[in-house]
Amino acid sequence: MNARELREQFPILQQQVNGHPLVYLDNAATSQKPRAVLDAVSRYYEFSNSNVHRGVHTLGSRATDAYEGARERVARFIGAGSTQEIIFTRGTTTALNLVAASYAREACGEGDEIVLTPMEHHSNLIPWQQVAKATGAVLRYIPLQSDGTIRIEDVEATITDRTKVVSVMYVSNVLGVINPIKEITEIAHRHGAVMVVDGAQSTPHLKVDVRELDCDFYAFSGHKMCGPTGIGVLYGKKHLLERMEPVEFGGEMIDHVDLYDSTWKELPWKFEGGTPIIAGAVGLAAAIDFLEEIGMDAIDQHEKTLAAYAFDRLSTIEGISLYGPTSGRVGLITFNLGDVHPHDVATVLDAEGIAVRAGHHCCQPLMRWLEVTATARASFYLYNDEADVDALVDGLLKTKEFFGHAIG
Ligand code: PMP
Repeated sequence: MNARELREQFPILQQQVNGHPLVYLDNAATSQKPRAVLDAVSRYYEFSNSNVHRGVHTLGSRATDAYEGARERVARFIGAGSTQEIIFTRGTTTALNLVAASYAREACGEGDEIVLTPMEHHSNLIPWQQVAKATGAVLRYIPLQSDGTIRIEDVEATITDRTKVVSVMYVSNVLGVINPIKEITEIAHRHGAVMVVDGAQSTPHLKVDVRELDCDFYAFSGHKMCGPTGIGVLYGKKHLLERMEPVEFGGEMIDHVDLYDSTWKELPWKFEGGTPIIAGAVGLAAAIDFLEEIGMDAIDQHEKTLAAYAFDRLSTIEGISLYGPTSGRVGLITFNLGDVHPHDVATVLDAEGIAVRAGHHCCQPLMRWLEVTATARASFYLYNDEADVDALVDGLLKTKEFFGHAIG
């Protein structure tokens, strides 16, 4: 796979920013979109746009076929058993909130346990805090090793017969670690708990097979994997989704409506109240086609190689702190440069046309665990290459010169 050639398919990456060619290293926040996705969305609006499921007319059928076709595409991509297990949502956050509000509020009672890790994104933390408050369940955390990894012994010690839900991110958006989801799932199941996976950072970069992982729920967002914003997916095992109540009520999700009571459609539509994100689903399907044409294994390999190169090159910068394990990580690097505030680092880099993220990355508890208030983060995707890492290193050396006094 040739990252430079692939980059040509991304119109936004062809521009100069602040007088320099854009080096986009904020992919963990959102990825850029290739021409194929932009065209698929605009073709949909130019040729097929209509509301789905209700229209008898031709455009209504085209839109419905496009939307339901996208569901089939997603199901195949993640290895789901059936399209009934694929719920379209606004993103990972909405998907996780749906599991918390529907499944967990019913399943948890006083003294039951919900197991998380301290590295979770706020989207996989706060919904469970809300469940705990509403039901009297208790949150328990699998402790982290000093490099941010988790040990299976600690998973074994944290999950008990009182555990009803285990919810863990597959890949950390800060530490770059890949968590042992399959093993954690096996332990959760041994104790009768369901396993929820935050797949926001794994789905764009690794080959994912939900049936091989055997997780019960899996959430991800289209916008981090070359798709549009506003579309995401909740995968759930059919027998669990079947017994769950919808959390949004209104058009599209009903079967029969009376003045005092109503019934719901079957799966997956009972969870998709209102006009769905039709163009988003079409764009997501096009993004999946694009990624699979390159090959998820090739993308994974490319990013791991780039991450190792970046880790090596960044380690040579005096005064830099790199967070997370030294190996076995995905293509993102979180760092601090001496005492320079990460916002200042990002501002100097931006003047060089280099986009990195600075802040708490929606992981405030993890920042406290790292004993920092914020960090900078460079995150790579299939269109980044070693030249981008070299530009980042040069930019950081300039930043160091600029703030020389703050770096020991
Ligand atoms: N979990 C993780 C690990 C993430 O990185 C993100 C996005 N930063 C989310 C959840 C939330 O995704 P979204 O904002 O698309 O709902």
